Amino acid sequence: MTEPTSINSIVSDATTRLVDVSESARLDAELLVARSINMPRSYLFAHPEDKLDESAQQRLEHILERRLRGEPMAYITGFKEFWSLELVVSPATLVPRPETEILVSLALQAIPRQAEWQVLDLGTGCGAIAVVIASERRNCEITAVDSSVDAIAVARQNVRQLDLSNVTCLDGDWTDPVQNRQFKVILSNPPYVRADDAALESLRAEPRKALVAGADGLDAIRILANDCVSIIADDGVLMLEHGADQKNSVADILTSCAWEQIQCHKDFAGNPRVTLARRSAGQP
Ligand code: GLN
Repeated sequence: MTEPTSINSIVSDATTRLVDVSESARLDAELLVARSINMPRSYLFAHPEDKLDESAQQRLEHILERRLRGEPMAYITGFKEFWSLELVVSPATLVPRPETEILVSLALQAIPRQAEWQVLDLGTGCGAIAVVIASERRNCEITAVDSSVDAIAVARQNVRQLDLSNVTCLDGDWTDPVQNRQFKVILSNPPYVRADDAALESLRAEPRKALVAGADGLDAIRILANDCVSIIADDGVLMLEHGADQKNSVADILTSCAWEQIQCHKDFAGNPRVTLARRSAGQP
């Protein structure tokens, strides 16, 4: 039988075990311990000397082992905060990244507060981009598309939980479900990792299809640059997230599909991360 141990020392032990797999070992340990006793994290600070009973220790060991095997915290807790919204995530969807908040903030700068625009989010995953735009721009109609039925189910759950009436989630390949429509703003955080990228090892718990896009990581961006031409409204804008070393290739791909006014923006780490492109009225 496991001896009852204080929260304090359990958090310290868990932190030590997590240091090799997590850059936020202490925070992860606190969240996991809090979860094992079904309490908010703040409870730990108010009751550092409380003891965890055996069943709580077993629950903790189980989730700690999942984290030690490299599962993201968000899959263990089932939630991830993005743009101050708490979103449901599952292993069918990428965990929303802070970089993607750059894309969201550029989109919000481009969409006036009272705009009644059609906005499209391609490869929506858990719906992060779509639900933030929908909640910040209530008069816009957002369409969110993903080729994974499981991911779209998660996106629908987020739309429901946030009580958003201006998002429609569709499953299908890229622009297939929205042919013959026109969007003023098209947003995408597509897969853009190279198939041989060493970083994939640390991302192995996430869906490969949402991360990898061919040998140079640009397959999805080539499809989007080409296929969005027929569904962008006059003076509409396309905004694509991409890899830190893909700025020039993305600009070349967009230029070859006659996109104009191509502009790249940096993420919080100073890496080129989001490219905007426009099509002016009257262009073929
Ligand atoms: N930014 C992600 C990473 O961690 C990749 C996301 C994507 O491919 N869209 O590498």
